Amino acid sequence: MDFKLTNEQEMWKQAVHEFCAAEVQPKASEMDANASFNHQAVKKMGPLGLLGLNIAEEYGGTGIDSISAAIAIEELGWSCGGTALSVSAHNGLGCAPISLFGSEEQKKHWLPALASGEAGLAALALTEPSGGSDLSRAVQTHAELDGDEWVINGSKAWITNPSVGSLVVTLCRTDSREDSKAFSLIIVPTDTKGLHIHPAESKMGVRASPTHALSYENVRVPAKHLLGEIGQGLYQTYEALDGGRISIGALAIGLARAALEEAMRYAKQREAFNAKLSGHQAIQWMIADGVTQIEAARWLIFHAAWKKDQGGRFTKEASMAKLFASEMAEKVCRNAIQILGSYGYSQEYPVERFYRDARLMTIGEGTSEVQRMVISKHALG
Ligand SMILES: Cc1cc2nc3c(=O)[nH]c(=O)nc-3n(C[C@H](O)[C@H](O)[C@H](O)COP(=O)(O)OP(=O)(O)OC[C@H]3O[C@@H](n4cnc5c(N)ncnc54)[C@H](O)[C@@H]3O)c2cc1C
Repeated sequence: MDFKLTNEQEMWKQAVHEFCAAEVQPKASEMDANASFNHQAVKKMGPLGLLGLNIAEEYGGTGIDSISAAIAIEELGWSCGGTALSVSAHNGLGCAPISLFGSEEQKKHWLPALASGEAGLAALALTEPSGGSDLSRAVQTHAELDGDEWVINGSKAWITNPSVGSLVVTLCRTDSREDSKAFSLIIVPTDTKGLHIHPAESKMGVRASPTHALSYENVRVPAKHLLGEIGQGLYQTYEALDGGRISIGALAIGLARAALEEAMRYAKQREAFNAKLSGHQAIQWMIADGVTQIEAARWLIFHAAWKKDQGGRFTKEASMAKLFASEMAEKVCRNAIQILGSYGYSQEYPVERFYRDARLMTIGEGTSEVQRMVISKHALG
C-alpha cells in the first residue's frame, strides 16, 4: 500500500490550485451574490485539462487517473462551490456517459469539443418534477422512434448546466414497461427545436452554477443519438452516478478545507478572555475534528477513485465516500461559522457561503438517504 501521491499527481494538484487561486476564487463571492456563471474562468479550463477529466487523450481529454480527477475537483471546490459544481457535473454527469457508453463515432463527434471547452459544458437530465431519488418511478419523459429520429416529450427539473452548454444527455422512457429496461440515454443538443430551457432556479447555494427546468415538446434528434443499447439507460445512469459521487465528495472536501482555513485564520487573530480564540480548547477541538474529518473523507474518496481505476464496479465505495464527505463538509462549515461567531453569520466573510454551498452536497447526485440505502444493501446482501 502506498499512501503517497505520485510526482505527477503532486504537480497536477499544484497547477490546478494555482489556477483556481488566480482565476476562480477571487470571483467566487461576486458570482454567488449575482448568481452568475464564471464564463471567463471556465473558458480557460479547457486548455488546462479541467473539462476533459473523464475523457481519454485520444478524444482530446486529459486521460488522467481518477485520483487526479478528484484532486482537481477538490481544488475547484476550495475556490468556488458553484463553479466546481458545474465543472463536476460537466465531467462526471455530462461527459462520462458518452465516454463510457458512446460508440467510436459518438465519442469522436462529441468529446473533443467538450474537452476543449469549445462546446461549453455538458449536462445530464435525470430528475423530473415528480422526483429524483426513485428514478424508475419518476421518469416519465418518453422517446419514441419515428423513422430514423427519436421524438422526445416530457419535462426535467433541477438540471445543472443546460444554459451554458451544447448538449443534455437525457434519461428517457423508451418502453412503456414498468421495469428497469424501459429506459435509455439520448444525447439532445441544447439548440434542438422544442427543447425549452426555463429560467435559472433561485437557489440557497452553489449560485454560480446554473440550474434549470427543461421541457421537451416533440424534440426530434437522430436515432444515432442513443447511447449504447436501447433499454440500458437506468444501468448506465447508475454507473455514471458512481463516478459523479466521487466528484461531489471531492468537491465537499474542498469546501470544508476552505471553511477550516478561514476559521483557523480568524481564530489566530481574534481574542476573547485574554487569549486568542485558537488558545481556547473548545475552539481547538473543533479545528482538530475538522482536520481529522477532512483527511478521513479524502482517504475514502481516494480509495473509491483507486477502486474505479482497477476496473469493475465501485458503487459501495463511491456511496460511502460521498456520504461521509458531504456530511463532514456540512459539519466543518457549520463549525467554521461558530468559530467566527457573528462574523461567521455575516456575508462579510465567506464561511456562510461555504455552508450554503456544502448543503447541496448531501442532496445532489443521490441524497444521504439514498447513499445509506445503497451502502446497507451492499452490507446486508
Ligand atoms: C443545485 C442542484 C443541482 C442538480 N443538478 C442535477 C442534474 O444536473 N441532473 C439531474 O438529473 N438532477 C439534478 N439535481 C436533482 C437532484 O439530483 C435531486 O434533487 C436528488 O436526486 C433528490 O431528488 P428529489 O429532490 O426529487 O427528492 P425526492 O426524491 O423527492 O426525495 C425527498 C426526500 O425524501 C428522501 N427519500 C426518498 N426516498 C427515500 C427512501 N426510500 N427512504 C428514505 N428517504 C427517502 C430523500 O432522501 C429526500 O430527503 C440537482 C439538484 C439541485 C438542488
